Amino acid sequence: MVYVSYEHSQAAIHNSVNTNLLVATENTGKAIDNWMDARKDDLRIISYIAENSENEKLQKYLNSFQNEHEGVYLEFFIIDAGGNIIFSTLNNPSNALKEPFLKDALEGRLFISDVSLSSTTNLPEIIITNPMRKNDTITGIMGARVSIENLYMIIEGIDIGRSGEIFLVNNKGELIFHKDRFRILHEKINNNFAVKEVIYEKRGVGDYINYKGENVLGSYYWLPLYRWGLVVEQKRDEAYADIITLEKETAVISIFAVFCVVLVAIVISKRITEPIESLKNGAAGLVNGHFKPISVSSKNEIGELTEIFNQTAEELLDIRKKLETKIKLANKDLEEKNKELIRANEELKKLDNLKSDFISLVSHELKTPLSAIRTSAEFLESEDTMDPDVEKEMLNNVIMNVDRLTRLINDILDLSKIEAGKMEFHYEKVNVQEIAKAAIENIRYLALKNNIAINREIPEYLSPLLADKDKLIIVLNNLLSNALKFTYNGGEVVLSAKEEKNYIEIGIKDTGIGIEKDKVAKIFDKFYQADSTSRRKIGGSGLGLSISSAIIRAHGSEIYVESEPRKGSLFYFRLKKFETI
Ligand code: ADP
Repeated sequence: MVYVSYEHSQAAIHNSVNTNLLVATENTGKAIDNWMDARKDDLRIISYIAENSENEKLQKYLNSFQNEHEGVYLEFFIIDAGGNIIFSTLNNPSNALKEPFLKDALEGRLFISDVSLSSTTNLPEIIITNPMRKNDTITGIMGARVSIENLYMIIEGIDIGRSGEIFLVNNKGELIFHKDRFRILHEKINNNFAVKEVIYEKRGVGDYINYKGENVLGSYYWLPLYRWGLVVEQKRDEAYADIITLEKETAVISIFAVFCVVLVAIVISKRITEPIESLKNGAAGLVNGHFKPISVSSKNEIGELTEIFNQTAEELLDIRKKLETKIKLANKDLEEKNKELIRANEELKKLDNLKSDFISLVSHELKTPLSAIRTSAEFLESEDTMDPDVEKEMLNNVIMNVDRLTRLINDILDLSKIEAGKMEFHYEKVNVQEIAKAAIENIRYLALKNNIAINREIPEYLSPLLADKDKLIIVLNNLLSNALKFTYNGGEVVLSAKEEKNYIEIGIKDTGIGIEKDKVAKIFDKFYQADSTSRRKIGGSGLGLSISSAIIRAHGSEIYVESEPRKGSLFYFRLKKFETI
């Protein structure tokens, strides 16, 4: 744009400068014409006056005319038809015969001579001659020597600037006007485009290298009447100073424009690349897990993209956090499950061991009565004749072991039923007095036999229990028979019951052998017997307490033991009252 504008401005200035110079030259040319026309008119008028005046009167008139046009008219003279000067305003008239102008004037035409240097003043002058007539006959010639210094002053009025040069040449290229007067008619200018053109009678304007080798803008004007060429030259630097200024300004503007464009390009590219760079870093951060929201600096498409990216990144991070939490929870869950599995496995192993132990214990326990039965049966079989008492004893032994075996198998079945949760419990309202009586009745015979007193310490009024009556009698039977079994003859067993706020406590106390402290915890294990020798002596399978404690546990309670060796033991448990439900 700047360049196009420069081109247009430059062309406009160029045209304007050219036109101005051409117009100024033309105007000067016209001024020369006017000045010369005035001179011609002067001479015609003077010729007319001279035709009709006496010499004396003419002299006077011409003197005043000369004064009026000071410095213009150097001499007026009259020549007769024979070529002799018959009148002159100067004292020293020259013979005009040799002058070429005589011929034209004698033929009746106004004549203007070439510029020549005055023989008297050595200054440039022209001679104008005009015929004088009387009755259409040429009687003489009126002539005037005209100084053209005044014309020069008009020409010098043209503004040609500092570096300008203005000159007139004749049709031979000889200088007939120049500001350096001494060059007039002493110099011929041929090597100049404008001079050549003007000699060819052309008018115009153009750029060229002048006779001094300078780059100039020149204008030339041909004056055909006098065969003069007017040349006006101006150095191009000065003539086109505005264009040079324009060039400089254009260069400055262009540089400034380029600078601005580069600056704007940098700013725009930065504004585009920076958010893209931030987006790239943000994306990398998102991948590495170090995402920070990208600041949105613009509201353009990139700004919108950044906002969408931030939102998406936050959503992704949110999803990631949730997933991480879920994975953590799942891991924890898995760990727990794993631990549970390990525990279950250990439990299974324990159970497996217990099962193996149980089986070996059961087999061992079963073997004992079986081998006793077998021994008795073999003995009976081997003897043909036998003492009836021995035979009876043997048979009793078989019956006793069969009973023992039966009890043992029943106990094992009961226990495994309870432990497998397959034993049914029927909870009902139970009167403690009633079951206590029933249980004591079961063991009364044995107590009498061993001389052991059985006492009841049960208040008359006692709230009923919530329990499975039959199972509860089994428990009481077990605890009472143990008490009898492990109490010395003459001892005492007490079945007691007392009511507390929320429960009823039932206790079986004996004055028997008691239990060593380190064995108390084991007496509830299956087949455990604190004193293994007592088994044979007293009987029992070692399952009674296991079965009893399983029944009480099913009631939501526990059997507690307090015992002192050789002093006796107390077994007690607490059951819920019926009314509290
Ligand atoms: P059993 O009586 O058939 O041996 P139990 O399971 O009923 O089996 O009892 C286990 C063991 O606990 C007994 O062998 C005995 O050593 C001990 N025990 C139980 N009751 C008493 C008691 N009242 N006094 C002393 N020891 C007892």
